[in-house]
Amino acid sequence: MNQDCLFCKISNGDIPSDRIYEDDRVIAFRDINPQAPFHAQVIPREHIATINDLTTDNSDLLAHMILTAKTLASDNDFSEPGYRLIMNCNEQGGQTVYHIHLHILAGRQLRGLG
Ligand code: 5GP
Ligand code: ZN
Repeated sequence: MNQDCLFCKISNGDIPSDRIYEDDRVIAFRDINPQAPFHAQVIPREHIATINDLTTDNSDLLAHMILTAKTLASDNDFSEPGYRLIMNCNEQGGQTVYHIHLHILAGRQLRGLG
């Protein structure tokens, strides 16, 4: 838990969110400023600031984040039409919240990568 971290506060319930999944390692919630009809974040409960901070110790956690996103996409009927998973790193990567998160975007045709 990082006292100054928005997503740590969402994870522990200090800041409310529209939570759509949780288990012992990750939570998922709807994005406050959705860029697609379905836009959610999968985050680890553990505070990890950026992709640069990851090590092989986090391999299982990362796999679990992606598999959680896959299941949420399936549960919301986006498996066949398709969806996009994104992780941004640092300023030029477009990261604004420094607690790693996997975006799930779905429900419209997604085009370029910006
Ligand atoms: P980033 O730009 O770091 O990859 O993505 C951060 C995401 O977090 C953005 O899509 C932004 O809309 C979302 N976000 C920022 N603050 C909040 C919040 O308080 N609640 C929720 N649900 N999403 C947030
Ligand atoms: Zn955090």
